[in-house]
Formats: sequence, C-alpha cells, structure tokens
Amino acid sequence: MSQVTTETVIECLKTIKGPDLEGDIVSLGLVSPIMIDGGKVIFTITVPSDQTEKLEPMRLAAQKAVTELDGVTSATVIFTAERAGGSAPSSQRPTASATPPPSAQRNPAARQANNSAPVPGIKSIVAVASGKGGVGKSTTSVNLAIALAKLGQKVGILDADIYGPSMPRLMGITDQPTVNGKILTPLEGHGVKVMSMGFLVEEDTPMIWRGPMVISALTQMLREVAWGDLDVLVVDMPPGTGDAQLTMSQNVPLAGAVIVSTPQDIALIDARKGLNMFRKVDVPILGIIENMSTFICPKCGERSEIFGHGGARDEAEKVGVPFLGEIPLHMDIRKNSDGGTPIAASEPDGPHAAAYASIAQSVIDSLQGAGFEGVAPSITFE
Ligand code: ADP
Repeated sequence: MSQVTTETVIECLKTIKGPDLEGDIVSLGLVSPIMIDGGKVIFTITVPSDQTEKLEPMRLAAQKAVTELDGVTSATVIFTAERAGGSAPSSQRPTASATPPPSAQRNPAARQANNSAPVPGIKSIVAVASGKGGVGKSTTSVNLAIALAKLGQKVGILDADIYGPSMPRLMGITDQPTVNGKILTPLEGHGVKVMSMGFLVEEDTPMIWRGPMVISALTQMLREVAWGDLDVLVVDMPPGTGDAQLTMSQNVPLAGAVIVSTPQDIALIDARKGLNMFRKVDVPILGIIENMSTFICPKCGERSEIFGHGGARDEAEKVGVPFLGEIPLHMDIRKNSDGGTPIAASEPDGPHAAAYASIAQSVIDSLQGAGFEGVAPSITFE
C-alpha cells in the first residue's frame, strides 16, 4: 500500500461541498492542516457552532472519501467551530477526532449514561473549578497534581478548560501527543501525565466549542487516552458555572470537586455558585482552596492582605465543606507556573510547595476517608 500524501487528501476534500452547497470545503478554507500518521489521517473542518448536527452528513462524506483513498487505513474528522468574528484556525498542529458514536449523538441519555461510567484504570477523578476566571484555578491544578505525585500518587491532569487550555504552557510541554490507533498517548511533565486540547490546537486559536462538541472532545480526552493506572486524575475545569461546566460535571465520573477562590467577596459569590453547581449534580465537594491569600513581598518578606484574607475559610465553614488551605500571592508562584516550571516541582523544599503538599494530603485523605475512591457519583437530570 502506498503512503498517502497531504496533497492527495486535499485534492480529495475538494470534492466535498461546503455548508451551503456552494464551493468546496478546501476552497472555503474550512479544513485544518492534515495530520498523517502512517495510514491514519486526521483533520478538522470548521463549521458554525449551531450547525454541527445539520452538517454531520458533510463530515461523514469527508471521512468516507478520505478513508477510500489508497494508503489510508482510517480517517478521523472533527468539527470545530469559530467564535463569532474569529478567523479560521491558524493551527499547524494535529487535531484528533472528537466525534461521539452516532448512537450517542442521537440519544443524549445514552451518551450521558456512557460518559458517567468509571474510566478503567483511574481510581479517582477530581475536578478543580472556580466560579470565575483569573483566580488561579489552572495554577492550582498543576501544583496540586505535582504535589499529589510527590506524595507517591500516580497522577494525570486533564485540561478540560477547552476555551483557554493552558496546560502546555504551565507544564512546559511543547511536544504533541502521538496517536496509537484511536488512542492518544498523554505527554508527561514533572511526573504527571498530561492531556490538553492545547496540544492539539494553538493556545490563541479563537475557537469555541459548544454542546455536543465540548462533550465529545472532553469524552475523547478522558476515555481515548492511554492514561494507564492512575490514583488521581485532576481535571482543570473551564472557569464559571454555565451550561458547559454543568454538562461537563455530569459527563465525567467525578469523585469530588475542589473549588479555588480568592478571598474577596465577589470571588466568593462566584465560588458559591460553583459549589451549588456540583451539589446539583451530586458531586461531593472535597473543599475550598483560598488562592492569592496573602501577598508576601519578595523583597522584604512583609505580608499584606491585598484581596483580604480568610474569606474562603469562613465561607467553607458557613456552607459546611472542608477548608483545604491557602496559597499566598507570590511572584515566584506566577513566574514559575507561567514559565512551565510549577513551583511545586521547581522549589520542592520551599514554603509554597509545602502549602500545596498539605492541600494534596487533605485531598487524598478526603478521597480515601470518605470512600470516594473509584466511586462514580449518581447523576441527576433536570
Ligand atoms: P485561572 O485558571 O483561574 O484563569 P490562572 O491559574 O491562569 O487562573 O492564573 C492567572 C494568573 O495568576 C497567572 O498569571 C498565574 O501565574 C497567576 N497566579 C495564580 N495563582 C497565583 C499565586 N498564588 N501567586 C501569584 N500569582 C498567581
């Protein structure tokens, strides 16, 4: 069998009509760069986010046409959608399939039931969430994951913040995952296995994923990845408590959720919404972390309470969930995580790593103590 080339695939895709049956998907600029791995071909087609269902025949036609090419063993085609006003994806990276099985597309209930089943090999899945963006949720996720690994746990991190995946940058990973059959091999950094949509699309690609696309992308990143045996999979959730987050928490068999908040009232109001969201879908709250708790001046070491202090602890007490600990606002935390060397890994003997370690220990204790390990919560539908 001869090796298929990008040119052959593109030529073939020129026979597939665009969404309005005008022009073809290649000339309309809808097709991403083509990834070829042996006989496997993977690419994306950009479509309006509200037309994915209607355009499913177009996706299938493209998939079929490419599969029939000489040298192709499988073709995986994924729909991506642009944010209104955004440009076509400039991604030069490969993109993997995020298409749920047809039965699941037709029957949301079937999809729900499938997706909330436990993931073989993974004992506990823990969501790290925040009511709003910018409170340090991703920074906390990576440092928590690394701290858990340092405590001897087998750990993975799934970057479910598909609107703004930051794990490649935070973990300092520039490679791309390899595809083995339909299964992606996760990358590894600082002793933690990592999967992120950011490995598959550029960080600044103006892309928005909606409804079924979000769920299918998430499902694939969770279930079609060779995680191996994990004690804990940390899921960095997208910020906020909207429909996407709610659906995601229903579609992942979560053992529990950790809420990250800054101390000031406004962030706490949002954190409360996060708490309520998880409660609504019967996901146990493992506790609240107060991030950016006190500011410690890197020059003189003086403490100041820029965003107040202790608000999250008070809130945790008020709503009856554990308070897991506080992380100061410190330049070294920002510099290290934004530089790809999270502080829990780069300064393992420092005070910040100790704070994350203590939080990680509390998470392990609550997972084990409360018997959450390996248990998929019952999901309620509204
Ligand atoms: P989110 O995921 O909630 O949007 P990020 O984790 O991306 O937030 O953090 C936002 C910014 O704040 C990043 O630049 C990060 O380095 C910084 N940051 C987060 N936590 C701390 C902290 N405790 N001290 C200093 N900077 C922090």
